[in-house]
Amino acid sequence: MADFYELLGVSKNATDDEIKRSYRKLARELHPDTNGGDPVAENRFKEITVAYDTLRDPEKRRQYDMFGSTGARGGGPGGDFFAPNFGDIFENIFGQSFGTSGRGGGRPMHQGEDMEATVSLTFEESVFGAEKEVTVRIPVTCTTCGGNGAKVGTAPSVCQACGGSGQVRRVSQTLLGRMMTAAPCDRCRGEGQIITTPCQDCRGEGRRTEERTYRVEIQPGVDDGSILRLTGRGPAGPRGGYPGNLFLHLAVAPSDRFRREGNELISSQTISFAQAALGTTIEFETLEDTVELNVAPGTQSGKVVRFRNRGVPHLGGRGRGDLLVELVVETPRDLKEEEVSLLMRLAEIRGEKVSDPHEHGLFSKLKSAFR
Ligand SMILES: [Zn+2]
Ligand SMILES: [Zn+2]
Repeated sequence: MADFYELLGVSKNATDDEIKRSYRKLARELHPDTNGGDPVAENRFKEITVAYDTLRDPEKRRQYDMFGSTGARGGGPGGDFFAPNFGDIFENIFGQSFGTSGRGGGRPMHQGEDMEATVSLTFEESVFGAEKEVTVRIPVTCTTCGGNGAKVGTAPSVCQACGGSGQVRRVSQTLLGRMMTAAPCDRCRGEGQIITTPCQDCRGEGRRTEERTYRVEIQPGVDDGSILRLTGRGPAGPRGGYPGNLFLHLAVAPSDRFRREGNELISSQTISFAQAALGTTIEFETLEDTVELNVAPGTQSGKVVRFRNRGVPHLGGRGRGDLLVELVVETPRDLKEEEVSLLMRLAEIRGEKVSDPHEHGLFSKLKSAFR
């Protein structure tokens, strides 16, 4: 037998990809079905396939390069002609299965589809976790027939079209010519059996829709839009197949006092002009308790006070984010006579130019305009 590299028309140091491409091209040209059974083409087709089977495998290729054969098969150069598993090679190259199927007959189990539902959470529940109930209308296994779809006292019969295997073999035209392929049987929809007398409660489906309530543990730290997957809690499969999955979308209601950025909780606290200037201590209510918020003298509006480990717990981990409280200085409005006087006195002491509400006799009008 000729040199494998020559057969495939590639150099000794060709890459795997080059070898594969060259083989594909030759295989299309030489496949027996595209050459009307020409024995020369058929022989070359076998040769290139053996060559390819050796060179695509790094270990076999290494041995071939060293000894001129793969050794394992016992033949020296030009010796034994061994038939590789053609099906295996074609499957790898063309992503298409040859005639046989690994299913080994029997009826396939159809898996139930996946289903989605929404779970609404308060802001607090998303932060601290909760146990929620979710009610869904979902296909469940029919208890009347036990899921096989046949009327009680009857049994499904073996499909005559496929002999119960659920598959039929077809000859189809492919890039490489005609090939045997296996396809699900049309008659029994691949199930290998036919229900002659369907169960009246599920009309032969083997499942029917009912309301189900699940208790779901919501972990602390989940966020709006998170998706929980309840494996195997989805719709039952038809005819006793495995159930699908239930995906729960978490919808977290916004809080009017807090917002979330990652695991940080953000809030704000209004303080007066005097509190900002002189400093104070404020009782600040967090989501869970009350903390002392110290306002330093001379605090500017926009200053952020950080409380470590008072934010959102790390989902599935340890520790929490921080709570950030922004201090917002509120300018006093609706001033009374006495307050106006004090502020004007303050401005005077500090040498600040201010408008005098009394000057224009507009004090009452201005008062309303400030609202
Ligand atoms: Zn039933
Ligand atoms: Zn069938």
